[in-house]
Amino acid sequence: MKNKLGDRKIKIAVGMALFISVLVIVGILMQFKMRELLEEYMEKQLEIQAGILAEQADERFQAEFVNMNLLAGYIRKAGMDEESGIWNALEEEQVKEIAGPALKEHVSFGLLELDGNAVYGKALDFTKCSGIVESFRGKEAVSYSEEAGLLFTIPIYSGNNVKYVLYKLYDKSLLVEEFGITCYGGAGMTLLASEDGQIVVPFAKEAGSVSFEDPEMEEVVSHIREKMNVSTAAAADYKDESGKNFLFVAEMNSKDLYLVGIVPEAVVAEGMWDISTLVLWVFGLLLLLFAIGTVYLFGAEEKAKESDELRKAKAAAEKANRSKSEFLANMSHEIRTPINAVMGMNEMVLRESQDENIKEYAQNIQSASRNLLALINDILDFSKIESGKMEIVEESYHLTSLLNDVVNMIQVRAEQKGLEFHVEVDKELPNGLYGAETRIRQIMVNILTNGVKYTKKGSVSLIVRGEKQEDGSLLLKMMVKDTGIGIREEDKQKLFIDFQRLDMAVNQGIEGTGLGLAITSRLVERMQGSLTVDSTYGEGSTFTVCLPQKITDSECIGDFKEKYRVYMQRQQKYHESFVAPEAKILVVDDNEMNLFVVRSLLKKTEVQITECKSGRECLELIAKEKFHVILLDHMMPEMDGIETLRRAKAMEENLCRETPVIALTANAILGARDTYLKEGFDSYLSKPIDGMELENMLKNYIPKELLGERQEEKQKQEDKQDKEISRETKKEKEPLNEYLDTSLGMQYSAGNEEMYREFLSMFCDMKEEKKQNIQKSFLEEDLENYTVYVHALKSTSLSIGGKKLSELAARLEKAGRQKEIDFIKEHEEELMELYELTAEEARVFIQGEKNRE
Ligand code: ADP
Repeated sequence: MKNKLGDRKIKIAVGMALFISVLVIVGILMQFKMRELLEEYMEKQLEIQAGILAEQADERFQAEFVNMNLLAGYIRKAGMDEESGIWNALEEEQVKEIAGPALKEHVSFGLLELDGNAVYGKALDFTKCSGIVESFRGKEAVSYSEEAGLLFTIPIYSGNNVKYVLYKLYDKSLLVEEFGITCYGGAGMTLLASEDGQIVVPFAKEAGSVSFEDPEMEEVVSHIREKMNVSTAAAADYKDESGKNFLFVAEMNSKDLYLVGIVPEAVVAEGMWDISTLVLWVFGLLLLLFAIGTVYLFGAEEKAKESDELRKAKAAAEKANRSKSEFLANMSHEIRTPINAVMGMNEMVLRESQDENIKEYAQNIQSASRNLLALINDILDFSKIESGKMEIVEESYHLTSLLNDVVNMIQVRAEQKGLEFHVEVDKELPNGLYGAETRIRQIMVNILTNGVKYTKKGSVSLIVRGEKQEDGSLLLKMMVKDTGIGIREEDKQKLFIDFQRLDMAVNQGIEGTGLGLAITSRLVERMQGSLTVDSTYGEGSTFTVCLPQKITDSECIGDFKEKYRVYMQRQQKYHESFVAPEAKILVVDDNEMNLFVVRSLLKKTEVQITECKSGRECLELIAKEKFHVILLDHMMPEMDGIETLRRAKAMEENLCRETPVIALTANAILGARDTYLKEGFDSYLSKPIDGMELENMLKNYIPKELLGERQEEKQKQEDKQDKEISRETKKEKEPLNEYLDTSLGMQYSAGNEEMYREFLSMFCDMKEEKKQNIQKSFLEEDLENYTVYVHALKSTSLSIGGKKLSELAARLEKAGRQKEIDFIKEHEEELMELYELTAEEARVFIQGEKNRE
């Protein structure tokens, strides 16, 4: 992999080098092209410049002719007035006035006659001054001769003939000063030349290096000549030892003269090369930017690749982690089954053995296997959370019932350790809530257990409060304060790390895995709650859990301590709250187990119970007999409870028109009460049915005259029996099993062990048939019946304390309603297994009870 990456890097680097080289070549070519263009541009500029300079020279020459013409005017006038006195007119002063004060020593005027005599000034040699001849032909002329200098001549007519030629002669020494045209701030030189190549005004400085005879120069000149054929100005560059120069030529308007100039290229190019350099810089800069960009992109690509690889590695790690979690889950599951058997058998030993030694061994086995089970449970929970399989099932619950369980469990532990346990529950808290009760219980037990575990003396307090939210929900706030060892500031961060235990020196001997808080914090997170810790090392800690819960019943919880006291009393012994042998109750439920539960729960009240298993049967019965109360299940196949009630109300021959009807429902959903009242029911009871609630409900609806008190004698007898078994029942209060919460089961059996055992055996007896129903509908993909069956299982299993089975059944029921086939397929096997395991534990329990008898 590394090699591949290295190869790729080299390839990319070579590619980039090639690309940059190409760009550099392009840059150089561009530079050449730009030079060429600039030279062309410079030539053009020079041609324009040459034209302008030629104009300047022209103007200068024209000024001479203007002056001379003025003078000629005077001469003509004088000549006209007075034939013999021409020269008189050309008095020195006048000439000077016309020629201007600048007239110098080396400038001379003269008036020549055709025969060569000078009428004024000195005579000139016609042969050497071509201009004189030309002016006698009638033209204004400029001519130059080595000896004489620069000569301006104009004809002066007498009638139609040229009579004189007026000349103005500049001595050679004055020419540059008077007619030299400076250019480029003196850096360039100009001369004026006639068409035949004769220099009229030489260069200002000694242009020694310029030799027009030079073959290269000749070439340049001929090039310029060519250009001049089609243009009035031309420029071309040439090279000599001083460097590169430009030669430029422009035609002057007057007198067939040319302005010729030379200027070093550097002078013309000044500024232009700046542009070229600038362009080069920009190009270079762009190149650099491009290089940086490419390097960056390359880096980014590498990074993307790396992160891609990281992603893949992460996915692989996650997969491995999932497999680990699954493995752990399976293992824990597999380990738990034999542990349950060990614990069950050990329980037998404990109960049956008379030998104190053996009993002690068995107690040790019990304590060790409980710890082992707790550990396995933690690992299972943890791996479930890790693999995302932890179900957070929300349902309606009563806060009192949740707190009763938690307080009951912790109080025993705190007492055993000699700690005080305080409970403070806000009276105003609503009792009916909707949320993940099982998980909240787990969270509270975890934190409270830690409080007890890590406190040597003093107290542990549970404070429960709540804040009503704007959306009508409740933020349930549970605080656990202890006066324990506390947590160091630097350890607080580690608290929620998996398998992390703190302060091992101090905590030696305290059993734990370091998973409790890791699980708790993840659960809280999944429930959108918060978990905070406040602690002073050596003084104690406060753990605060806040969880949002919906409110189903805003009736206040009231005095929790009082409620707890009643609960404990009820836990210890059950007495029916009334007897009503005359009362007739009709129970309608498709599930025999439920019918059995109701029948058993009401046994001691002596009410007369009629059972039926469908809405149709119910309608038949109420046509024949008058009942005092009807308990009507909601969810039944064919005709459900609501439909049954609707038809009953519409039925003419209904003898129970006035009879209160109570809905039995396993769906304690939000606003259930209102829903049932609206449908015409008088009240509702949620399944699994709580014996006390059922009795209270019936006491309310059975006509007063039929209600009687329980008999004193009977009570005494029962109390005696209760005492005998109380030692044993206490043991059952702590959940021994994994699948069967016997204390919960006992609670649903109104604290009556005999009844509970009956429930359990019925549960076991019915297992095969119910399992078959579920399996059949599953295989036939009959979602409707499947949902009905798991719905029934949800409450029957809970009524015996089979919480796990009930939870899964509830989840499957939801899946059935929402047509989540995949979820059902994934969990069907698990359901069957849980069913078996729960029944197995139930059998062990029944067996144990039997053995005890
Ligand atoms: P454990 O199974 O070790 O109790 P937890 O995850 O529940 O695992 O807790 C992790 C560690 O946090 C414990 O080992 C203990 O050191 C510390 N801890 C937890 N609760 C308390 C507490 N109430 N007081 C002091 N230390 C605590």
